[in-house]
Amino acid sequence: MDIILLGPPGAGKGTQAQRLVATRGMIQLSTGDMLREAVAKGTPTGLKAKAVMEAGELVSDAIVSALIGERLDSCVGHGAIFDGFPRTKHQAEALEILLGERDRTLDHVIELVVDEEALVVRITGRFTCANCGASYHDKFHLPKVEGTCDVCGHHEFKRRPDDNEQTVRTRMAEYRAKTAPILPYYEEKGLVRRVDGMGSVEEVAAAIDAILDG
Ligand code: ADP
Ligand code: ADP
Ligand code: ZN
Repeated sequence: MDIILLGPPGAGKGTQAQRLVATRGMIQLSTGDMLREAVAKGTPTGLKAKAVMEAGELVSDAIVSALIGERLDSCVGHGAIFDGFPRTKHQAEALEILLGERDRTLDHVIELVVDEEALVVRITGRFTCANCGASYHDKFHLPKVEGTCDVCGHHEFKRRPDDNEQTVRTRMAEYRAKTAPILPYYEEKGLVRRVDGMGSVEEVAAAIDAILDG
């Protein structure tokens, strides 16, 4: 089963993808994570992407589509969760070709529907485990034991440089202008399933499970 999680920054895509990885053995393909890794390693892709990401704008379609193509080859026998990809019509078309070349098809496009003002609060409170990437929030999802990752027991956490209010506004504008317009493309194929992303993490998870098991 291959699915796309679609929604603006902070909608909960990463949180829900991590849960599906843990519960269903699916593989999370997050272009944001791949790009941050490239930036950290200083690869040619990372050098091109760094300033664009810091500004909250979109990295080129060619770069992110190539990253997804590389990673898809390691998903044989597993369902893939596309998290943060595609973000433009061009990327949606590229994904269709990449999947077709590997005899895969898309099962669902799950749109997390959220309120924009709540997203600013979610994004500015977001932090992740520096070791395993598990996602937390200052108000909504603190580790069970203060300062200790629930998943791996690590004690260091990090925050993203682009998780500030100003950059979030640009990222939301990019979502509205370039990403939301790909919904009709998937509507036509009958793939879009809407989930209320404003519920608790558990409520959103239950709604996604109902779709995947339905
Ligand atoms: P995305 O990958 O869509 O940008 P994340 O999954 O990283 O979003 O979530 C953004 C922040 O909001 C994180 O700090 C996460 O812990 C928190 N969060 C995720 N889902 C919910 C939810 N349903 N309710 C409250 N906070 C949430
Ligand atoms: P979010 O939590 O906002 O959903 P991501 O981690 O998915 O953020 O992406 C962070 C940044 O990486 C984006 O603001 C953008 O600069 C870049 N990026 C990630 N995925 C893509 C993509 N599919 N196309 C273009 N740029 C991307
Ligand atoms: Zn951890």
